[in-house]
Amino acid sequence: AGGRAPVLHWFRRALRLHDNPALVDAVRLASAAPAAAGAGTGGGRRADVGVGEAAPLAMLYVLEPAAVTAPHTGAVRLRFLLETLAELDTALRARGSALRIVRGDAPAAVAAAAVRWGASTLVYEDDDSPDGRERDAAVAAAALAAGLSVVTAVGHTLYPPAQLLEAAGGTAPRTMGAFTSLVGRVGEPPPPLPDVGDTLPPPPPLADGEAAGDYAVPSLEDLGWTTAAAAGLRVQGGEAAGLARMEKFLARRGGEAVRKFEKPKTSMVAWRTPDTTVLSPYLANGAVSVRTFYARLREVERAGGGRHTHPPVSLVGQLLWREHFHLLAGTVPHFDRMVGNPLSRQIPWDDPATDAAAAERHAAWAEARTGYPAVDAFMAQLRKEGWVHHLGRHMLACFLTRGDLWVSWTAGAATFEELLVDWDPALNAGNWLWLSASAFFNAYYRVYGPVTWVRKADPEGSFIRHYLPVLARMPSKYIYEPWKAPLAVQKAAGCRVGDGLDYPLPMVDHAVVSKVNTDRMAQAFRSGAAAEKGGGKAPAAGAG
Ligand code: FAD
Repeated sequence: AGGRAPVLHWFRRALRLHDNPALVDAVRLASAAPAAAGAGTGGGRRADVGVGEAAPLAMLYVLEPAAVTAPHTGAVRLRFLLETLAELDTALRARGSALRIVRGDAPAAVAAAAVRWGASTLVYEDDDSPDGRERDAAVAAAALAAGLSVVTAVGHTLYPPAQLLEAAGGTAPRTMGAFTSLVGRVGEPPPPLPDVGDTLPPPPPLADGEAAGDYAVPSLEDLGWTTAAAAGLRVQGGEAAGLARMEKFLARRGGEAVRKFEKPKTSMVAWRTPDTTVLSPYLANGAVSVRTFYARLREVERAGGGRHTHPPVSLVGQLLWREHFHLLAGTVPHFDRMVGNPLSRQIPWDDPATDAAAAERHAAWAEARTGYPAVDAFMAQLRKEGWVHHLGRHMLACFLTRGDLWVSWTAGAATFEELLVDWDPALNAGNWLWLSASAFFNAYYRVYGPVTWVRKADPEGSFIRHYLPVLARMPSKYIYEPWKAPLAVQKAAGCRVGDGLDYPLPMVDHAVVSKVNTDRMAQAFRSGAAAEKGGGKAPAAGAG
């Protein structure tokens, strides 16, 4: 209908129809309304399109190699993504549109799709992840070379990063305290946009030789995975499931679960019904908009007549942690690495890539065979379900790095990248920097005890019994240190402890290695301070 060239909307992380600035832009540009040209919602370049007649609108998703292959992803996150895409496709079809999924590297795949369908305008969401700017520049270059105009919008954070940076005088604050006051000065984030309507512009016709099936959402098996590998996933992917989960949490105890939320006081071992929202998978892939969640949190807070917790411990505070790490990831060079990252202390970790002994320690940790049940149970939960409470992640990260194994945090972050259902590069790197005391956090001598710490929260070890069934019948007295159980007790529990037996001996003596490692950290802090005095890069001031 008519002669206007199609608009191409490339879905990235905003896999949703609610509060989706780039999608709203794409719909506006494709529709006939005279106000279309130049009226954008984000901060990107504006396209100069003709007005007066409707254009077709193609909906593209690119499955990049890293999203479908190990070790960059695991079956649990991939299943969650495919469920999300399938639901998005259904929602688009109900509105007269449809998702077209292609595989390949984004810059080439997007440009090729645009040429195939004769598009003249490309619209997508900015990527603020550590490598995102480079990839975005490559996509924009390929699109411009193919003769397209490019429109981008911000959709993954509460504020456009440029707005925060400008208010901060050009440099992102290094501490949560400074970030919170920055946000206080800037004011509330923009409210969420209205949902796209019930009808969407139709997609452009397929090119010669193409069939609709070519662009269908693949299954795990199509991508070479088994469904069994993803069987433990606890949350259903998709916008509807995410929004329903959000509303259910907001309504818990008539809103009091939100108003009384204090992060450190939530339980790390509540595996049946987690104490926190478990919205992270949806926020990470954009099935739920962070601005929508924020706006609903504020409503529930207000409904309490002003009685509610505050950042950094409140749920709004959790979203500020997220926002802060996103701002840093988008502005600090090599935020997800140690070398070349000006925020990261340079600590002489053992690197599994070059050191066989470190590789074996890393593998034992990643395969839940450290011999410390509290550590192995969190890892077993991560492997099975892809989600672990924040404090469980603390235990895992501290144990691998400064606490016990002295393995580099980037190796741990890579394992999390593979296993987390909620993997978000900015949040993963920011938290690993924190837990390894490489940035933000200075109290490196505060180490989590793998026997004592979790025991305080779960004296009977029911969390361990659930995730490590081999220890299910171990008496509570020994559940955190089964190697101390007399042989008769081990036999009666059906779990003999020892190398090659039912459960391994502890791979290190925590009392010994944690002291050695704390001394090494002290040394690393001293040389960091010396480098600073000598004009080197200053380590970040800690926030907590
Ligand atoms: P809630 O407590 O309900 O919080 C709501 C939302 O706030 C979360 O969904 C998340 O988006 C945000 N949030 C909460 N805590 C943090 C935090 N410490 N930093 C930044 N944002 C936060 N979270 C991820 O989403 N992706 C990751 O890849 C990731 N990697 C981590 C790695 C390590 C080593 C550690 C210690 C933490 C990591 N986190 C990560 C942060 C945090 O553990 C999870 O966001 C949280 O546990 C998710 O559960 P929830 O949705 O129930 O959180």
